[in-house]
Amino acid sequence: MAAEKKTVAGKASTASDTGSVPDIGGATWSVPQSADLYRVEDWGEGYFSITDGGHLSVVPRRDDSLTIDLHEVIVGLAERGINTPVTIGFPDLLEHRMREFTDSFRNAIEETGYRGAYAGVYPIKVNQHRHLIRQVERLGREIGFGFEVGSKPELLAAMGVTGDTPDRLIICNGFKEERYVQHIMLATKLGRRVVAVIESAHELDLLIEQAHVSGVRPMIGIRIKLQTPSVGRWSATTGIKAKFGLDIPGALDAVKRLGEAEMLDCLQLLHCHMGSQISDISIINKGVGELARVFVELCRLGAPLRFIDVGGGLGVDYEGSQSTSDFSVNYGLGEYATTVVYRIMSVCDEHGIPHPTIVTEAGRALVCHHSVLVFDVLAVNRPDRWTDDEIQSALNTAQRTLPRVLEDAIEAWRTVAPNRVLEAFHDAEQARDEAATLFNVGNLSLADRALIDQIYWSTCRKVLEITRDVDPLPEELQDLEVTLSDTCFCNLSIFQSLPDAWAVDQVFPIMPIQRLDEEPTRRATLVDITCDSDGRIDRFVDNIDVSPVLAIHEQQPTVRYYLAILMVGAYQETLGDLHNLFGDANLVHVQLDDEGNWFISDEVDGDTVSEVLSYLEYDPRELYRNIRKDCERSVRAGNMTAAESRELLAAYDRGLNGYTYLE
Ligand code: PLP
Repeated sequence: MAAEKKTVAGKASTASDTGSVPDIGGATWSVPQSADLYRVEDWGEGYFSITDGGHLSVVPRRDDSLTIDLHEVIVGLAERGINTPVTIGFPDLLEHRMREFTDSFRNAIEETGYRGAYAGVYPIKVNQHRHLIRQVERLGREIGFGFEVGSKPELLAAMGVTGDTPDRLIICNGFKEERYVQHIMLATKLGRRVVAVIESAHELDLLIEQAHVSGVRPMIGIRIKLQTPSVGRWSATTGIKAKFGLDIPGALDAVKRLGEAEMLDCLQLLHCHMGSQISDISIINKGVGELARVFVELCRLGAPLRFIDVGGGLGVDYEGSQSTSDFSVNYGLGEYATTVVYRIMSVCDEHGIPHPTIVTEAGRALVCHHSVLVFDVLAVNRPDRWTDDEIQSALNTAQRTLPRVLEDAIEAWRTVAPNRVLEAFHDAEQARDEAATLFNVGNLSLADRALIDQIYWSTCRKVLEITRDVDPLPEELQDLEVTLSDTCFCNLSIFQSLPDAWAVDQVFPIMPIQRLDEEPTRRATLVDITCDSDGRIDRFVDNIDVSPVLAIHEQQPTVRYYLAILMVGAYQETLGDLHNLFGDANLVHVQLDDEGNWFISDEVDGDTVSEVLSYLEYDPRELYRNIRKDCERSVRAGNMTAAESRELLAAYDRGLNGYTYLE
């Protein structure tokens, strides 16, 4: 894709001299060019690739001989009546990722000579879906993963799924009231290894009181606020500004009070959470160092701490830039594990403290890759949709003296060339502005104004094509790519399926799942089907940077075009809301069998209209009855036949039981 750089003023080489325009990516196009354009290898962690036939595929075990063709899956789902938008989870990928986590820590422990163990816990809030929790639970049984919960309902869920493996850690964070603490005591009585993490001073009183009432000696943890602030999108709520955790005087006070209550032996874990999506490994190094220092000092004060919990925050490279930008990271899983293990070890060794079990609560990095959201493009709005021939033939049929402003627009359009590209652009803008003024005072017809608009867009397209590889681009032309981009109407709700794109401008990899062996010649922004102008995506990963437009293919009228949003397994599904009453998307889990063929291992239907209405206290049966009465009134008034009323009622009923998205 790297094209020769040109300047506007300089004499351009190649096709520009003749006034023709360069191709966006060259005359021929190949799969590796698509991989490069969408940066698949940079963000994909080896879990995604493109088939020779140009389809995006998932490589769930990072074994190139076992891939799942996403387009084939979508077609297969449609044949089974499962429509887009659909979230597809890949349990094999999740398993691979979980094993990689434990392997990374095992390796780091071996390499550094660390004498403690590693125990990962999965924070349920990151994706509470029952199928996912069940899988984490199943695999966690083998590799020793537990759960982190942040609320009473999450604790009840974790208790419910860990019955036959009570030895795994359940770390209880979050704000605690009496009932939550009672559940912790109950779980401890049931033999679960539950750690009640004290986040604020009042929780300590509750815990001491409930321990006495229930006669339980709970495992207790203290969460501290680090001085080290995090970086990135969530940094404002980290360091001493963090919502939860005790400051250092508070932690010392807690140790003292536990001692007074003769419960110091219960204090076994020290915890911190440095923030989410930490992009810079040096922050992790510093934060873990601070935590470890507090750990050894509390041990020296007599606290029998056995676990050091570094919380979540392990980031992922959504952009593929391997940088410290908000949605990237400058490190990988291996470096993270080594940094955490080595830092804790060096601080403990310095003070002769035995190596504790290291607990991590990484959520995003564990589950985000395993889910993909696929949706179809419903329509495309294209500002420059007229060809030069169409414009010329409109002018040919005009057969009259043209208004001067129209002549000016035509002149600008005809004379766009590399050596007068800015001038032509200015002339086109001038003609368009003047046309609007003349039209507003009644001195230009609607037809002529429309023609000037068409010519204007066509001129802009020529300007863009000539200047696409110009560096530096004149300021006035810098927005042209975005202004001229297509608007793709997509069958999804950003608010339901991708809330972070709306709430925190998060960048996700987005790309077509088909035709990747063809050049994507159009540039587009995406809008969803909610009536909210915020329901749009205009930040995309491409091979240069984060771009305001996505490279897509020219639409073919009879072929459904699908786009995928990758790495949506963390935080998206459960944070989504019901804007415009678009409900949960369909969800399937796709796995590989022993022969390497894919099959659907789980399916959860998306919300029906009735379900969504019921969430908001409507009674769908009552709505149906009301419509039935309406129909009857219309039949009696002669506005509708009985047969029409039956059809209308059947359609209403189908609507209530149908998918909330376009089917
Ligand atoms: N642990 C705690 C206490 C958290 O608050 C969070 C999320 O904010 C996590 C773990 C998971 O963080 P992440 O998904 O960034 O790894």
